[in-house]
Amino acid sequence: MNLDFLSEFIREQYQTNDFIPLHAPSFKGNEKKYLEETIESTFVSSVGAFVDQFEKKIEDFTGTAKAVATVNGTAALHAALYMAGVRNNDLVITQALTFVATCNALIHMGAEPIFCDVSSESLGLCPKAVEEYLSENAGIDSAGCFHKQTGRRIKAVIPMHTFGHPVELDELLNVCSKWGLALVEDAAESLGSFYKGRHTGTFGDFSALSFNGNKIITTGGGGMLLCRKERDGEKAKHITTTAKVPHPYEFFHDEPGFNYRLPNLNAALGCAQMESLCDFLLMKRALAEEYKNFFAGSEYEFVTEPGYAKSNYWLNAVICPDTEHRDQLLKVSNHAGVMTRPIWQLMHRLPMFSNAFRGDLINSEFLESRVVSLPSSPPNKDSSGKSYG
Ligand SMILES: *Cc1c(COP(=O)(O)O)cnc(C)c1O
Repeated sequence: MNLDFLSEFIREQYQTNDFIPLHAPSFKGNEKKYLEETIESTFVSSVGAFVDQFEKKIEDFTGTAKAVATVNGTAALHAALYMAGVRNNDLVITQALTFVATCNALIHMGAEPIFCDVSSESLGLCPKAVEEYLSENAGIDSAGCFHKQTGRRIKAVIPMHTFGHPVELDELLNVCSKWGLALVEDAAESLGSFYKGRHTGTFGDFSALSFNGNKIITTGGGGMLLCRKERDGEKAKHITTTAKVPHPYEFFHDEPGFNYRLPNLNAALGCAQMESLCDFLLMKRALAEEYKNFFAGSEYEFVTEPGYAKSNYWLNAVICPDTEHRDQLLKVSNHAGVMTRPIWQLMHRLPMFSNAFRGDLINSEFLESRVVSLPSSPPNKDSSGKSYG
């Protein structure tokens, strides 16, 4: 395939000669209006109506029992792990192929990762790889699951829905219940993605969403901790808002809480963005279809949603035949002002995780050396075909 055609094809989608970013935010609705309302009310900070509204909108959209807004997705993950009972010296199983935030959150909890392979269908944590690792390396006693070599507790499993493609959740839940492990979903990339008709982030007891600037909707910076049980939601709200016991004027805090509350200003943006989410999802699905057709019959394999899922297609991606082809694609497109990026380097290659326990990472290594992500902002063409940029 002539790679110049790819850059031209992408320019056609966005109808522009300007630089094309990987994922740009889009503010076409009530963003300005809600921000102005917030400023006029002076409730820009930790108190205000938009936080509650934003949480309600996420609850309605995802079907989760309780959503708790946080300052960013990493903070949501950190609080999710705390809520799931992960503590100092615990081990937590996650995928080697992920964004570093997944692992940072568990390190901040005093825990350490165990890296397992991803599935080639979902690009996310593979249930078979987790089961294989556990059956070779773990045991169960009266206190739960432990790591045989060190005697340390294995507490949780954190799958990440890579680029918005849902992992095999039923199978992962089976592995978790067999070994007595908590499931915490890193759903930072998967707002709008469904597994067998149910929204990602509603399977684990706790999950995290992100509204960073490059995600499907943005609050500038922000995140959401999803709780499957109402009661957990109340506790999660409490610990992410300094653990203050409600009282007309006394300051009494009953445990070391986090100050992870999302400012009202950011929540205002989030409320406006939620009004556009369904449009974004449709536009992104249409763009993915265009990419799929473009790559059909070529030596590049476009990444499509797993058969059991409906993905948000947050980031479109292609698997190159080999590393040389990948490097050439990156070089040609970036040179043409069309932003493309390799997938993340595997976590155990980063200095702080180089000694982490890990299983076979065959699929992760294959994908690490071949996957390129492609411009994926909603194209936002109007009926005349003109782009809003
Ligand atoms: C974006 C992202 C996060 C959270 O990012 P924040 O910038 O802290 O909101 C976590 N995990 C993954 C996989 C992500 O892509």
